[in-house]
Amino acid sequence: MSDWEDEYDGDGVAIEKPATKPAPTLRKLPPVESQGQSVSFGVRNGSKCGASRDWRADRGGEGSEFRSRRGGGEGRPFPRNTERGGPGRPDSRPPVTFAVETALIGRIIGRGGAKIRELEESTGARIKINKGDYEGEVVLFGSPDAQQKAKEMIEDLVADGNFRSRDELQASDAAPPPVSIDWNSIRENKGKYEELKWKDLPPMKKKFYTEAECVSILTAEEVCEWRKENNNIFVDDLKEEGEKRPIPNPCRTFLEAFELYPEIMENIKQVGFVKPTPIQSQAWPVLMSGEDLIAIAQTGTGKTLAYLLPGFIHMDGQPVPRHECGGPGMLVLTPTRELALQIEMECKKYRYKGYKSICIYGGGDRRAQINLVKGGVDIVIATPGRLNDLQMNELINLHSITYLVLDEADRMLDMGFEPQIMKILLDIRPDRQSVMTSATWPTGVRRLAKSYLKNPMMAYVGTLDLAAVNTVQQTVLIVHEDEKKSYVFDFIRNMLPQEKVLIFVGKKLVADDLSSDMCLQGLAVQSLHGDREQCDREEALKDFKESRVRILVATDLASRGLDVHDITHVFNFDFPRNIEEYVHRVGRTGRAGRSGAAVTLVTRENWRMAPELIPILERAGQEVPEELVLMAERYEKHKREKDEGNSRDGRGPRGGGRGYGGGGGGGGGGGGGWGRRDGGGRGGRDRSQNWGF
Ligand code: AMP
Repeated sequence: MSDWEDEYDGDGVAIEKPATKPAPTLRKLPPVESQGQSVSFGVRNGSKCGASRDWRADRGGEGSEFRSRRGGGEGRPFPRNTERGGPGRPDSRPPVTFAVETALIGRIIGRGGAKIRELEESTGARIKINKGDYEGEVVLFGSPDAQQKAKEMIEDLVADGNFRSRDELQASDAAPPPVSIDWNSIRENKGKYEELKWKDLPPMKKKFYTEAECVSILTAEEVCEWRKENNNIFVDDLKEEGEKRPIPNPCRTFLEAFELYPEIMENIKQVGFVKPTPIQSQAWPVLMSGEDLIAIAQTGTGKTLAYLLPGFIHMDGQPVPRHECGGPGMLVLTPTRELALQIEMECKKYRYKGYKSICIYGGGDRRAQINLVKGGVDIVIATPGRLNDLQMNELINLHSITYLVLDEADRMLDMGFEPQIMKILLDIRPDRQSVMTSATWPTGVRRLAKSYLKNPMMAYVGTLDLAAVNTVQQTVLIVHEDEKKSYVFDFIRNMLPQEKVLIFVGKKLVADDLSSDMCLQGLAVQSLHGDREQCDREEALKDFKESRVRILVATDLASRGLDVHDITHVFNFDFPRNIEEYVHRVGRTGRAGRSGAAVTLVTRENWRMAPELIPILERAGQEVPEELVLMAERYEKHKREKDEGNSRDGRGPRGGGRGYGGGGGGGGGGGGGWGRRDGGGRGGRDRSQNWGF
């Protein structure tokens, strides 16, 4: 596993070593303990467990090492062969043990162990089950928070009367009977099943747009010119069959878009925005016309408002009044908790018709989230793991959703959320309106868009972050790995009292290491990474936002979507894994009209990034260190030789080759330089050739 994958925690399922010990014999269960509380559900009073079976041993063995994820889960499995977080971790707590009727154990395990894995993933606890004849013993390992969450989820599972019967459970435990499935018939009848599933849907409306006259009269040349001047925005119809549809003209002012919606206009007035951002100008007419949309835009481009406002209008315009829908009308799926919370804040800022929004994310209080959902909400903003958990346990109705947003789709795929997204979308009516945002347009995102959006339009906007990058003073220092710390401490020593720095590192361990070193030196510092408990992450962000600390050490994952306006410096302690991330990081400073500066440490190990970094620096009028140019040349030479070697071997060159400099590079974030964002060549290709599915 590469260094950078550390942040992603792997994406496999726990593989356990084969059992080396016989399964232990169950003893009579002691009184059930859970952090000082007595827990008892489904327990037969005074009964003894009989012959035991350790379910763990069946799956692979007692005594095998598990890793539980700290800080709750988003549906990602987090087994790793490292010391941290294992049962012997310094901060692990004594296991919580309680008894459950044997007949109910099947619910916890699930078919083929699916449920127990899901429980482990979404709570971060490690769960072990010792089965007896009448009673089973559930043992929970992990942090108190993870243990508590797992306990609550198991409690819900065994208390829920709607579950499968005892016979079914026993049947699921026994070897499954041979089943013959007629796949052909299933495939042939898929359409019919779908029709049957969705036959009683209430009517839905999608078109709410009337083009203002001043927008209609724009000539093709005027539209073209406007798009060019506004971050070189590029719009296309991705409809595959039949004639292409006309692409709506952009709305250059708020009034052009929302003249018919005075409440929206009032909200915008209150927040004080002057004009729509490029993505908003183009997304609003498309979305209010009822079309699906793919918006290729990064955080900071105003993409949230681009989909939220049409969503409000969509919900309000449905023939069935909101209170009769029996569930939420809008769902926003988003990769991280931070982003979910940020979107919720945006939702609250533009309060419309009193719509209630709720944030559902792993690591948050599951019970409270369930109660809020039950209390009735209009907009759900969720990370896929936790939403999938509520969906599978029938705690949320997704049939009422008519407006769906997949926010930062590329990030969600990177984080391995595709299975959860697929399961969630099975329960959302197929004639919904869908929006997808993504910073990049790689194959995985195209596949997702093709599967779940219907004849979408696409709006690509050269990132505002890139525009911001152009206003950030960027310094690149070529250093040795072991010099990095002294550079960062030197930088901090020279900080002025009003300055605020965001230090990016590649690994969670480095974030911990660096921030504790700073603490030891008496510096007020916070750290933000995926291994920290949710409450600690929120506190870190709050401390930084409210300037209680002026140094934040963060990994990319945790900093995604971070919206702090007064960051004066970005310090790239480790170089990011790709150049888009560099742009994203650097764009964290110099926001809202302020000036900003970025310092980036580059080591020999980062040489493959040099050819991509140089054009960014050049375009922003920054100094390019001679050493970086030499590094880029060395890398290009090395790559050429490698490719030539490969073709001599008959293997051919690998990949599309990111020729440095390679022509194209238009200003304002568009042009050939940024046209292709899927890992292929960067040299001045016609961008429109690359957008199709
Ligand atoms: P986003 O790309 O959605 O993360 O938005 C980044 C920031 O831009 C948020 O703080 C928004 O409130 C703000 N924003 C959204 N639309 C506009 C606009 N039209 N003018 C100025 N700021 C905006």
